[in-house]
Amino acid sequence: MDFSLSPQEEAFKKELDDWLDKNLAEMRQRRGRQPMNADMESDEAQEFTRWWHKKLHDAGYIGIAWPKEYGGRGATIMEQVIFNEEMAKRRAPPGVGGLGVGWAGPTIMAAGSEEQKKRFLPKILGGDEVWCQAFSEPEAGSDLANSQTRAVEDGDDYVVNGQKVWTTGGMRADWAILLAKTDFDPNTPRHRSFSYFLMDMHAPGVTVRPLREMTGNAAFGETFLDNVRIPKNLMVGPKNGGWYISMGTLEFERSNSSSAIQSLNTITSLIELAQKTERNGHPLSKDPLTRQKIAQFYIESNVGKYIGLRALTRQLRGQTPGPESSVGSLLAMELGQRIEDFAMYLEGPYSQLVRGSKHAINNGMWPRSFLASRGRTIMTGTSEIKRNIIAQRTLGLPRYTT
Ligand SMILES: Cc1cc2nc3c(=O)[nH]c(=O)nc-3n(C[C@H](O)[C@H](O)[C@H](O)COP(=O)(O)OP(=O)(O)OC[C@H]3O[C@@H](n4cnc5c(N)ncnc54)[C@H](O)[C@@H]3O)c2cc1C
Repeated sequence: MDFSLSPQEEAFKKELDDWLDKNLAEMRQRRGRQPMNADMESDEAQEFTRWWHKKLHDAGYIGIAWPKEYGGRGATIMEQVIFNEEMAKRRAPPGVGGLGVGWAGPTIMAAGSEEQKKRFLPKILGGDEVWCQAFSEPEAGSDLANSQTRAVEDGDDYVVNGQKVWTTGGMRADWAILLAKTDFDPNTPRHRSFSYFLMDMHAPGVTVRPLREMTGNAAFGETFLDNVRIPKNLMVGPKNGGWYISMGTLEFERSNSSSAIQSLNTITSLIELAQKTERNGHPLSKDPLTRQKIAQFYIESNVGKYIGLRALTRQLRGQTPGPESSVGSLLAMELGQRIEDFAMYLEGPYSQLVRGSKHAINNGMWPRSFLASRGRTIMTGTSEIKRNIIAQRTLGLPRYTT
C-alpha cells in the first residue's frame, strides 16, 4: 500500500486542520465549563456531545466514509485515516453515539430495505436519534445463539418478550438493533432461528434499568421487553436470517480503525506521565525499563494501525470487514489494557487517587481509564472468542469441542 497523500487527500487534510484549529478552542472552553466531577452520562455531558456532533456534522465530518447517496462524504480510505488520526492526535472527542454511525448505520446500508435506509440513515448522521445494541442476554453473551428473547407474529407486528443486558447507552437511546428468536422449532439449527429488528426504545413495554460500573458511571443497563410491538417493516433482511446480519454488525464493531490510533494517543500521555513522574530523583522517562516498555507499546500500536487499515480497505470496497477484524480488535484491546496497567505502575501510590481527590494526578484520569479498560477484553466479544474466530475462520483450524 502506498500511504503518501494524493493532492485530494492533502487538500482534505488542510481543510480538516483549518477546521480543527478554528473549532477546538471553543470545544475545549465549552467542555471545561462542566464540573470536575461530572459523570460522563450526566445531562451536561450529553448536551455537550450533542453540540459537538452538530458542529462536526455541519462541517461534513460525521460518517465520512459513508457513501454520498446516504449523506456521507464518500471519503477515500486515506481520508478516513487522516480524519481518525487528526481527531485522535488533537484529543478531539467523538460525536453522539458511535454505535449508530459505526455499526447500526452500516448494517442498515448493507442489509436494510430502501424504506429503512431513507427513514434512519439521515437521523443517525445528524445525531438526532441515538442507537444502542440489544444482543446480549443474561445467559447469552459469548454464546449469543443461546438468546431466548422471542418475537411472535401478530397481524402487522411482531410481539417481543425477553430480557437483554449490558445495553450500552440503553437509557438514552431512541432505537436499538435487536436480535430475537422467530423460529421456535427445536429441530431448527439455532443460527437459522433469529431475526434482526430495529426497535423503538420509547415503545410501550421497553424498560431499561441502569447498571453502575466500578468507574462510577452507569453507561449501560438491563433492558426488559414486555409485549413490545415491532412493525414487520422494521425487520432487517429476511425472517430467520438475522444471525448472519448480526455477525456483520459485530465485524463492523470490531473493525474500529481508530482504536489503534487511540492507543498511540494514549502512549503520548504515558510519555508525558513518565517525564513528569520522578523516582529516586530522576524522571521515569530516563529509566531504561520504562523506555523499553513504552517503545514496545509504540511498536504494537503501529502494527494495530496497519491491521485496522486492512479492515477499512475491505469496508470501503463495499465488503464487510471480515473475520480479520478480530485480529486488530484483539490486539488493540489487550494492548490498551497493558498500557493502562503500566500507567498504574508509573503513578505508584497516586494510582489510588480518583477524580476529585486533592492530590490526584490529572484529576484521576489514569485510575479511571484503567478501571474502564477492564471491560475492553469483554465487550465486542471476549479475547477468547476472538481467538476462536481467528483460529476457525481465518486460519481454518477445526472447531474446538470437548
Ligand atoms: C463495556 C461493555 C459494553 C458492552 N456493551 C454491550 C452492548 O451495548 N450490547 C450488547 O448486546 N452487549 C454488550 N456487552 C456485552 C458483551 O457482548 C458480553 O459481555 C460478551 O459477549 C461476553 O458475554 P458474557 O458477559 O455473557 O460472558 P460469558 O460468555 O459468560 O463468558 C465468560 C467467560 O467464558 C469465556 N468463554 C465463553 N465461551 C467460550 C468459548 N467458546 N471458548 C473459550 N472461552 C469461552 C469467555 O471468554 C469469558 O472469559 C458489553 C460488555 C461490556 C464489558
